[in-house]
Parts: sequence; C-alpha cells; structure tokens
Amino acid sequence: MSVDTSLPNPPANRLCLDFANLPFAAGDPAESPIFWDEFVDFLAVKQIISPEKSAHIRALVETDPRAAENLLHEAERLGRALRLCFRAVLRGQNLLREWAEPINRILRVTEGHDELQWDGSAWRLTFVAREESLDWLLAAIARSGAELIASSHQNLKQCANPDCRILFYDDSRTARRRWCSMALCGNRNKVAAFARRNADLSAGKARAHHA
Ligand SMILES: [Zn+2]
Repeated sequence: MSVDTSLPNPPANRLCLDFANLPFAAGDPAESPIFWDEFVDFLAVKQIISPEKSAHIRALVETDPRAAENLLHEAERLGRALRLCFRAVLRGQNLLREWAEPINRILRVTEGHDELQWDGSAWRLTFVAREESLDWLLAAIARSGAELIASSHQNLKQCANPDCRILFYDDSRTARRRWCSMALCGNRNKVAAFARRNADLSAGKARAHHA
C-alpha cells in the first residue's frame, strides 16, 4: 500500500515545525483548526503510525469519540505551545516556564523502563511504557520541539513574507534561505518587487515627460 508522503505545506525540515505549521497555509496569516483526518494523515505521512494503525486511529472518531476528541485537544495544545515558544525564540524573548508545560506533559507520558522479555526464540531488551495512552502518538513531535528549543536554534526561521506564518529550519549550506517556498512566497515577492520597480520606472518616465 503506498502512502502519500506529501503534506500541503512546504517541508520545514523538522517534525515539530511541520506540525506547528499545520493550521496555516503558505502566504496566508489566517489560522484554521486542525481536523481529525488531517491530524491522522500527518501521523501517517511522518510514519509515526503504520498504515494499519492509521486505519484504526482514524476510526476512533466513530469507535471512541471521546478518546479522539481528547487526543486532538492535546495535539492542538501542543501545537500552540510549540508556536508560542518558537515565535518567542525568533523574537529573542525568554520563554516562560508555563509555555513549555504542554511539551513537558507529553514528554512525561514517555516514561518507562527496559525489560528483558522472551519472545519465543530469544531474550530481547524491550522498552515498556509506564502508561499506554494515546498521547504517546505526540511523543516524537514533543521530543523534536524540545530538542529544537534546547538547541542554539540559529537556523529556526519564519518565512520572510509578512503575510506568511510558516516556520522552517534552514538546512541550506549557506543558511540564507528566506522563504518557506520559493515557488509560493519567494516568487510572489519577486513579482511584487518587479511591479514596484516598474511603477517607479513609469512614474520616473512620466516625470521626465512633464519636465
Ligand atoms: Zn511563506
């Protein structure tokens, strides 16, 4: 079974940033809520869940609507916390302890220990989670966010288009990437700059004509 490996937004080069970008579209400052299907697609595309598991998770909305609602609520909470922290980092502000709390809450879920287990043919050292909650599905995202916040995060950027809220990690060799996507925001900027230059030129010509 082939999995669609694309997301609507340009790749942000970090799992936590792709997740933080979910409620936004390139070049548009409007924030929209995350829908259940979109959230499950994200987990599947990022291979946090297998195709089989994704069918099971997707069906939760029918089989256990409360569990689905809680998980989506927790995902939104994590997304807001990540955006708050990343935007503060971009402005050079200090983070408030409570901003990191939703991230830490998910990290705490991942408590557990290693245990020797007999799998029928060999002993294996296996990780045993202390609690098997659905919040585990957010663990990799929270971990990715925590690592970025705790790093020197020099290459964390927001798209240079003032209408765009897309965050990305600049992995380019020169670290001079400005746009979430050249095709979307970069070209739009070029077209606008060209129009401005043209307008200046015609205004100049008009002035010269009247001189
Ligand atoms: Zn952009």
